[in-house]
Amino acid sequence: MERSERLERLKVLLRDALALLGEDPEREGLRRTPERWAETLLACTQGYAEDPQKHLRAIFQLDEDDYPLGSEDMVLVDNIEFTSTCEHHMSPFRGVAHIAYIPNPESRVIAGLSKLSRVVEVFARRLQLQERMTHQIARAIDDHLRPLGVIAVVQAVHHCMEQPGVEQRSSVTLTTARRGVFLERPETEARFQEYLRLRLDAGKM
Ligand SMILES: [Zn+2]
Repeated sequence: MERSERLERLKVLLRDALALLGEDPEREGLRRTPERWAETLLACTQGYAEDPQKHLRAIFQLDEDDYPLGSEDMVLVDNIEFTSTCEHHMSPFRGVAHIAYIPNPESRVIAGLSKLSRVVEVFARRLQLQERMTHQIARAIDDHLRPLGVIAVVQAVHHCMEQPGVEQRSSVTLTTARRGVFLERPETEARFQEYLRLRLDAGKM
């Protein structure tokens, strides 16, 4: 279905929703609310139409001399900001993702650095579970770059945790997904955590 048609149909439904809440959808302040609401819903779910592999197609290859066999050096991008939508409550959760991978010394394939944040965005712009999103990010990188290992760590605050009855305003949810050497060797994950700490020590650069 065309985007414009989906927008129109959502507007009708959301106008009804306002009326069901006891509101007058025709009053000045609400007249354009169904349209804005529908635009927001479509923006929050536009990741369905995108293939994360599209962003991982822009790959580069390190020279054999620069990254010899036996290398296990890490590429780490931290604090990738995102906003996603909790599928259980249709409410936002927002936070940061930290991603690291170790290129395979046989293929020596690396991704453009900005592409890692694009992969996060593709998965964030869907109705999500934080746990699933974390694994989807790691899997997409694993499938396409075939690194020795990949780790994704996501830290997020969930609006649904702040709602009446739950009221856990200071809770941060942390999820991890590990593949390859990150799964097999705890010292590799320890190295990743050490690098994250270095970044925290450096503060704002
Ligand atoms: Zn929720």
